[in-house]
Amino acid sequence: MAQTPQDDNFGHKHMDPPKAKHPSQPANEKIENNPGTHVKKLIAVISGKGGVGKSSVSALCALHVMKKGLRTAILDADITGPSIPRMFGLGPADIRADSQYLYPAQSATGIKVMSMNLLMEKEEQPVVWRSPVITGAMRQFWTDVVWGDVDYMFVDMPPGTGDIPLTLYQAFPLDGIIIVATPQELVEMIVQKAVNMARMMNIPILGLIENMSWMPCPHCGEKIYPFGESGIDEIAAKENLPVLAKLPIDSALAKACDEGTVEYYEGADLSGLDAVL
Ligand code: ADP
Repeated sequence: MAQTPQDDNFGHKHMDPPKAKHPSQPANEKIENNPGTHVKKLIAVISGKGGVGKSSVSALCALHVMKKGLRTAILDADITGPSIPRMFGLGPADIRADSQYLYPAQSATGIKVMSMNLLMEKEEQPVVWRSPVITGAMRQFWTDVVWGDVDYMFVDMPPGTGDIPLTLYQAFPLDGIIIVATPQELVEMIVQKAVNMARMMNIPILGLIENMSWMPCPHCGEKIYPFGESGIDEIAAKENLPVLAKLPIDSALAKACDEGTVEYYEGADLSGLDAVL
C-alpha cells in the first residue's frame, strides 16, 4: 500500500498520491488527455542513463521551438531528478489548482511546465513512492493537468530502459522520441539499448543529440574532444537516424541551469531539430 504524502511529511501540495493505475485505464493503454489540453506534438526526450544532460537538452529543445513563436510546454516526468523547474526559476507558487485540476507553471518566456518538484514544499525531497505510484502520478500530469493549447510538448523522461520509462512510453501518446547521449555512453552501448527500446515501442525516433560532445580549446578555439572523438555518426548511420546536434561542454549552460536562467542561454545550436519537427 502506498504511503500518503501526509503520512511521511513529503510536503506535496495539491495532489493526492495516485492509485497504481488511472481508474478507467489498464496500465499498458494510452491514456486520455485532460479535456482542456490540446497538444499537437508530444515528443519524449530520453537517455540510456542519468546525468548525461537529458533535462538540460529538453529545456534547450523547448526554448528552440518557443523562439519560433510556437506554444511550448515541458512535462517533467524525470522523477529521479525533476530539475526542469529549477532551470526556469519556477517553484510551487507558480502552479495553480482548483478542486478538480492542476494548471501548469509558466516560465518568463511563456513555456508551460509541470513537474513533481512543483508539488513539493522542498525541492530536495526525494520521491520515495514505488514505481506504479510514480507512473500513476506521471499519468495524472497528462489526465489532470489543464495544459491548454500547445504546439510542442517535450516530455523529459526518466533515464534508462527500466520499468518506469517503459510504462510511460506505453501510456503517453508520443509522436516521436529524441535520444540524448554523451560520447561515453556511445562507447558503452547504452544508447543502443535506448534505440532498441524506442524501436520496440514503435515510436518514431526523430534523431540523436550528442551532449558534452566537445569543447573549444581555451587557447586556439579549435574543437577538442575530452571524451575522445565520438561514435555518434557511426551509430546514427547504422540505425539510419539523423544526428540533430552535437552540443559542447559549456560551464555557462551548467550555471544557467543552476541559476534558473536557462531561458537566456544562447550557446546551443539546435537548428538540426527544424528538419524533424
Ligand atoms: P540528466 O537529465 O541527464 O540527469 P541534467 O540535464 O540534469 O542531466 O544535467 C546534469 C548536469 O550536467 C547539470 O548540472 C547540468 O547543468 C550539466 N550539464 C548538462 N549538459 C551540459 C553541457 N553541455 N555542458 C556543461 N554542463 C552540462
